[in-house]
Amino acid sequence: MGKKTKSSAKRPKDMRNHCRVPDYGKGFKLKDADPGEKTAFPDRANAEAEMAADIARIEELHDVHWAQGRHAFLAVFQAMDAGGKDGTIGKVFGSLDPLGVITTSFKKPSERELAQDYLWRIHQEVPPRGMIGLFNRSHYEDVLVVRVHALAPPDKIEQRYEQINAFEKHMTENGVTILKFFLHISKDEQKERLQERINDPTKRWKFNPADLNERKLWKQYMTAYELAVTRCSTPWAPWYVIPADRNWYRNALVARIVRTTLEEMDLRYPPAPKGIEKIVVE
Ligand code: AMP
Ligand code: MG
Repeated sequence: MGKKTKSSAKRPKDMRNHCRVPDYGKGFKLKDADPGEKTAFPDRANAEAEMAADIARIEELHDVHWAQGRHAFLAVFQAMDAGGKDGTIGKVFGSLDPLGVITTSFKKPSERELAQDYLWRIHQEVPPRGMIGLFNRSHYEDVLVVRVHALAPPDKIEQRYEQINAFEKHMTENGVTILKFFLHISKDEQKERLQERINDPTKRWKFNPADLNERKLWKQYMTAYELAVTRCSTPWAPWYVIPADRNWYRNALVARIVRTTLEEMDLRYPPAPKGIEKIVVE
């Protein structure tokens, strides 16, 4: 895998608290989270330069993560339609060695999946040690779209928040570091982006008329998101609500949070076999 040099750049500012939902959502209201704010990186050019450095560091850490093979890392992405999940995954993780990354998009469950508990299909896609896993949608759909459309009985949905916390705790205790990102766009920004999917012939393939029905349920989705990010932001698997109306800002924040988290993971190359330095290849 990739480069082996250790970055000499000094550690940048920890921006996790900028958009971390407090544990169990204490005092957090989604309506107070402004999708258009940019106070963490007020200047675009600076944000892009810092992001390039953060990504270079993520690439190095990814190499160590893979070589060490002891930990797994999982980043979960949720958003409304056109919220930028695909774009964020591409921009922040697109330069990593594909050997060490598994990306999973969760769609409407199949009949087979619906015949199991909702975490069954999720558990199978949790990255193994040494890998970075990226979830494009996730088990949170089971308290988001499922809640908004009443696809399961209300009492069953109510039980899921605690079940999710327990599942994520179990994963964490078994070597998986979990981060969760809600890419938060405004309703106006979604309008622009959906219209753009219609206007731009190269984007029409992304347009799904069903998204317009979901858009009408914006309020209900925001209520469901607020419940999910408050009930399920835990010390072991925090939620970050990322202001996502500006792509460059969203990407810079996610890259910084990923970098900071990887830097805290005690990643080290495995010890070399004794006496290796004396070996000469002939
Ligand atoms: P997309 O990400 O645009 O390809 O769309 C995937 C669709 O699958 C979205 O409309 C999701 O809401 C839906 N989906 C994902 N997971 C579930 C789930 N557990 N139950 C119902 N719908 C889901
Ligand atoms: Mg879609």
